[in-house]
Amino acid sequence: MVSNICQNCGGLMEWTGDRRKMRCPFCMSEFLIEERETDAFDKANVIDPLLFRSEWDISKLREKSNGKDFITEFLTGVNEVGSAEKEQENLFKILSKSDNSDMATESIHPELFKTAVQRVASVLEPGEKPLVYQNSGLFSKGKEGSVITDRRTITYDTKKVMFELHKDIRSLQLDNGGDIPSIRVNEQFAVRFSMIGTGYKGTGAAAALICLYAFAQEPDLKQIRLV
Ligand SMILES: [Zn+2]
Repeated sequence: MVSNICQNCGGLMEWTGDRRKMRCPFCMSEFLIEERETDAFDKANVIDPLLFRSEWDISKLREKSNGKDFITEFLTGVNEVGSAEKEQENLFKILSKSDNSDMATESIHPELFKTAVQRVASVLEPGEKPLVYQNSGLFSKGKEGSVITDRRTITYDTKKVMFELHKDIRSLQLDNGGDIPSIRVNEQFAVRFSMIGTGYKGTGAAAALICLYAFAQEPDLKQIRLV
């Protein structure tokens, strides 16, 4: 196991936003975590058993084309990219390659982004940064959707705005019902970060981003259940 005692001052270190680094809050030293024994696992195909308790049947997901793109991008995010900041760039890159306006960022579809952010503005804290929106209303564009910020995942419809703080996330569900993958955080509500036409890579990257934020913002979080 990784030692979490600071080699400089003996303080108890904390995880940083980068999963490969720990920081001592007392002397501010940062240490790269040595490769774990389990780093030998097949990162392209296996969910990290240290970080996730998986109740998903990955092999079943791979049989569906939508599920395959989702899971491939999810595994890339949590196993290879490893930090929320870098995964955010990865997600933005995926979205920039698509002209689909159902899921986008401020720089890709500024007007739609602004509308979505206005819808969830009541729950945002000062300094909180909305990163990406998803339009999920098939027949009511702009009225239903989701927003991921650097602190929480939000979903909204015409009546209400609901959210889960990333630091409170303990489980994530992939709902592949109806062939459109959506993410359910803490089994509370479905966040349909999905895009028609891009093979659902964006959904997988969004799921990875949420998990990476959860680990970065809740240092005591040991594992996320994938249900
Ligand atoms: Zn220290």
